[in-house]
Amino acid sequence: MKSIYQLKKEIVDVGRRTYERGYVASNDGNISARLDESKVLITPTGVSKGFMRPEDLVLVDYDGNVLSQGKRPSSEVFMHLCIYKERPDVNSICHAHPVYATGHAVAGLSLEKCVLPEVIIVLGGIPLVEYGEPGTEEFFKPVLKYLKDHDAFLLQNHGALTIGSDVLNAYHKMETLEHFARISYIAQQLGGVHVLPRDDVEQLIDARARYGVPATAVCQTCDSPGGESCEIYQGASATTNHNANLKPSGSTDIDRERLVKMVTEAVLKKLG
Ligand SMILES: [Zn+2]
Repeated sequence: MKSIYQLKKEIVDVGRRTYERGYVASNDGNISARLDESKVLITPTGVSKGFMRPEDLVLVDYDGNVLSQGKRPSSEVFMHLCIYKERPDVNSICHAHPVYATGHAVAGLSLEKCVLPEVIIVLGGIPLVEYGEPGTEEFFKPVLKYLKDHDAFLLQNHGALTIGSDVLNAYHKMETLEHFARISYIAQQLGGVHVLPRDDVEQLIDARARYGVPATAVCQTCDSPGGESCEIYQGASATTNHNANLKPSGSTDIDRERLVKMVTEAVLKKLG
């Protein structure tokens, strides 16, 4: 188990990266990490994610009681706590407003189509969650509907949310989501998004188990050649029991080298 100091440092570091990459403006966004079965660390309200100090972070219990001195927790603290209760495999949560992802969320477009191999393996489809007023229960209630089967979400007219096995894992999913949103935007300008056929998507899902990716995310809307919907994740090699996929912190980040090798193999196989 990581020390409280180590976790604070990770959140501060990821906060700086979130701010520097322009995923948030001003004091927007919030990041949290599960410390143990009774406590969670979360970013404070009213502080830029780019300029946090470890001592700014707020320690809360699972009822939202503040256990530390100093700053008050993010106004979205109850969303974070609710997600930790619902998903025992999740140890960190990132919420930000990256422009391309949020642009899709404002335009009412989900990112559920199966387009990029890395995204399919790590995130599956990314649903567009119905709007709810920030800082209230209405904000996170709609997320719960998608929570079991997804690790990344677009929040309608608001922003993006990612969850993961540790702080870096949750943050990397935010990077992957925003990168995918940018690529989708550019592809649309260049004439349209080509969706991978069902067979290729199935191969990528099978590869999750081989490459130790614990994702269970489903893909509900991708176009298969026959035009059927592609709900292939459930009942496939990926298990829907998140607890069964628990791994020690830090071991679930995808090994990029292996991923590139695997994608190359899949492409070569396809070419003949
Ligand atoms: Zn927000």
